[in-house]
Formats: sequence, C-alpha cells, structure tokens
Amino acid sequence: MLNLVLFGPPGAGKGTQAEFLIDSFGLIHLSTGDLLRSEIADGTELGLKAKSFMDKGELVPDEVVIGMIKSKLDNNRDAKGFIFDGFPRTVDQAKTLDTLLNDNGTPMSGMLCLEVEKEELISRLLNRGKISGRADDQNQKVIENRIAVYNEKTLPIIEYFKPQNKHFGINGMGSIEDIAERIKAVVEKL
Ligand code: AMP
Repeated sequence: MLNLVLFGPPGAGKGTQAEFLIDSFGLIHLSTGDLLRSEIADGTELGLKAKSFMDKGELVPDEVVIGMIKSKLDNNRDAKGFIFDGFPRTVDQAKTLDTLLNDNGTPMSGMLCLEVEKEELISRLLNRGKISGRADDQNQKVIENRIAVYNEKTLPIIEYFKPQNKHFGINGMGSIEDIAERIKAVVEKL
C-alpha cells in the first residue's frame, strides 16, 4: 500500500500533481480543502462552520478535518493507497494521521514536499482565483495570511516526519510535467 502526503504551501501545485499521481499509481485522492468545499456547497452544518475560517485564510479546527479523514479511511478499506492533499496541516493532525495509518498496518510511505518561492505562490493563486472563482484565491490579504499560517502551523510537520526519514523535498518550480517527473522519481523508490 502506498500512502503519500503531498505537502507544500497553498499554490505549490498539490492538487495538480495529485491528479497525476492518482492516474499513475491508482491511489485515492483525499483533499481536505475539496471535502470542505463540498460540505459548503451542500450547505451542511460542518460546511457553514468551516466557511468562516476558510474565508479568512485560517485553519478549520483539527477535530473537524480529522473526523472527515477518519471516515474516508474507514469507507475505503480496500484501497491501494491514499494521497493526502492539504492534510495534515498541523503537528496534531500529523500525529493523528501517523497513528491511524500505523494502527491500520498501512504506514505512511512518504511526505513529498513541494518547494516554491513565495512570489510564485501568490501569482499562481491569484491566477487560479480568476479561473476557479475561489474566494480565498482572489484576495491578496487572505492569500498572504494562508502562507503565513502555513509557515507557522504547517511547516513544523516536516520536523515531525524527518526522524522517520519520510520527508522528501521536491523543487516545485518549473513546468507541471517537469515537477511530475521529479515526484515520480521519488515515488518509484518508495
Ligand atoms: P486548500 O484547498 O487545501 O487550499 O484549503 C482551503 C482552506 O480549507 C484552507 O485555507 C483552510 O481554511 C481549510 N483547510 C483545508 N485543509 C485543512 C486542514 N487539513 N486543516 C485545517 N484547515 C484546512
């Protein structure tokens, strides 16, 4: 079983590269951002609660996203593996995921960390906002807050996984195809 975490700041290309990994390796894509947006679209109570955090570029509380991930893992017991995109985003989420996967006897295979310069992130997100209409991609202040939250709360996850030798830094600048090749080279060794 291949369990991959696609890691990196907002705009690093996690969603784009996840599509490619699903096709190449037959994994189930679990994007907490997509799951939350679908809760919002369905007008659920969870979606309503999450929206107030997402609109500001803040993180949705751990227990909400962990609950969503747990139920997805439970409902896909026969999967070939998962690609976690946008999760974990805090050290507590990372510890919970690590424990859940170990308890299932299917440990995390690797954490692929896309490294992209801040100016490039902002430009990619503003462009995506024009196309997708995502509110949090259209406001530079919200984008800057998301990047700041990433640096403060999400980056420390690297230190959590480093002792397990599961962290792989990948240059996330350049063409989509070139980045996909770099990722593939790492995944094939796992
Ligand atoms: P994304 O689509 O991954 O960029 O996520 C969009 C927004 O959803 C984030 O800015 C957060 O507000 C929220 N979100 C997504 N994943 C998580 C997570 N794992 N933990 C907390 N909040 C999340």
